[in-house]
Amino acid sequence: MRIIETASRLELRDVPYGLWLFGLVFVMSGSFVLTVPFWAPEWRGFQLWERLAVVAIGASHLAGGLFMAGRAHATVTELDRATNLGSQRVRRLWSRWRGARGTERTALSCTRWTATETRCTSCACGCPEASHFGSRRRRRTGRLARVGTPSVCGGSSGSRATRRRWHTIDSLLVLQYENRRRLDRPATACREYLIVTSGLRYAALGAFLVFSTARLGAQGALLSISPARPLPGALVTLTLQNLGHDRDSVVAIAGTMAGEPLHFVASRSGRRALGAVPVDSVTTVEAIVVVTRASGKRDTLRASVTPPPLPPPKEQLQVDSRFGRPLDSATAARVAREGELALAVGRRSHDSPPQWTAPFLRPRTSAVSSGFGTGRTFNGQVTSRHLGVDFRGALGAPIHAANRGVVVLIDTFFLGGRVVYLDHGGGVTTGYLHLSKALVSVGDTVRRGQTIGLVGATGRVTGPHLHWTARYGGLTVNPLDLLKLDAGLSR
Ligand SMILES: [Zn+2]
Repeated sequence: MRIIETASRLELRDVPYGLWLFGLVFVMSGSFVLTVPFWAPEWRGFQLWERLAVVAIGASHLAGGLFMAGRAHATVTELDRATNLGSQRVRRLWSRWRGARGTERTALSCTRWTATETRCTSCACGCPEASHFGSRRRRRTGRLARVGTPSVCGGSSGSRATRRRWHTIDSLLVLQYENRRRLDRPATACREYLIVTSGLRYAALGAFLVFSTARLGAQGALLSISPARPLPGALVTLTLQNLGHDRDSVVAIAGTMAGEPLHFVASRSGRRALGAVPVDSVTTVEAIVVVTRASGKRDTLRASVTPPPLPPPKEQLQVDSRFGRPLDSATAARVAREGELALAVGRRSHDSPPQWTAPFLRPRTSAVSSGFGTGRTFNGQVTSRHLGVDFRGALGAPIHAANRGVVVLIDTFFLGGRVVYLDHGGGVTTGYLHLSKALVSVGDTVRRGQTIGLVGATGRVTGPHLHWTARYGGLTVNPLDLLKLDAGLSR
């Protein structure tokens, strides 16, 4: 009885294990399809419903796989309960232990089931074990083989007791086989259902891809902006796709966004450029790009973003009284002049190619004490937007260049105190304000991470810190957005 149970259970488990594997394949292929819209560059031009359709196909695959694995698990559990023999691992160890003890073993088999067991003294069939029942290695490892038939063993030569025994085994086998059918049926039905529906799903996915690719091809070049809903003062990435297979036919790409020129560079996912959303923008910001081809044909592409408004002022700060009241006309003129200087530095940056080849770094590793765009009131009288990011730092702490660039301006500003401006080329400049000391000179090319100055408390401050600013051309942007750029945008 136990022989039969062991054998049956093993064979019974084959089906659930197969289902486990099937489930795994489904889960893997489902996950793969599910993520396609998020990494494949060609998918940027696809519409929302197209992305959703692919996600739905992937999700249903994933769900099918999980369901099948669950079904298989339930079947295995039920088999374990029905046979009450512990795990397969325990059975293997038991079998090996018996083998090691040198106990004589033989195999009992029928057309459907095979089992190993110590030679039963009540069975007098006397089969020469080696000739009938598989190789020695196979027996030693306890793997079951489907060999022989009961008649070979018990048939003519056996005693009546032997024949009766085989008879019993036969009926038990039938019983177990019925049991297996009963247990397997839901899992097998589930597998067949999933095979059929997955075929349909893949067919739908294939047809859909053919259709969508044809639609994209007919649509021509595409311009997109990322992120799709940037904040005011955000640095954005513009991507030009679908320029045609023969890239050489494009001879020029020119464009502007919010009045600033765009510099497109080739990348794996098309041509990319940096752009900026003005801090004070309240309406839609549009990018216009003109692609000129060798044939003289020109395509004008447009893309736009609508930033949400910045929150109202909430920071209350106390500063030296000369900064806390509205500026007199002479000081106002000085502040305006200094602003123009920094602005000119930003605009000139369009004239030189990008100087950087590695991602931007934080100028200080310390915590940010005030983020970008916060509205603040000084001494309850003067209101302004914080157009940079403040980093903590004691007086004299080092300040690092965010990336490779040229020192283009060192000055003492009324609001900014001691300032250093770096031109990174391609329209990107960074400024370091309130320094106690600048350690570089105008015209120097600085390395990424080089110490360019020391933290101070010059200008309009509440205490020593670094105020870090960034511009794209003439537009002030959130410098922390620079840290998200990959170096591919510089080439
Ligand atoms: Zn600041």
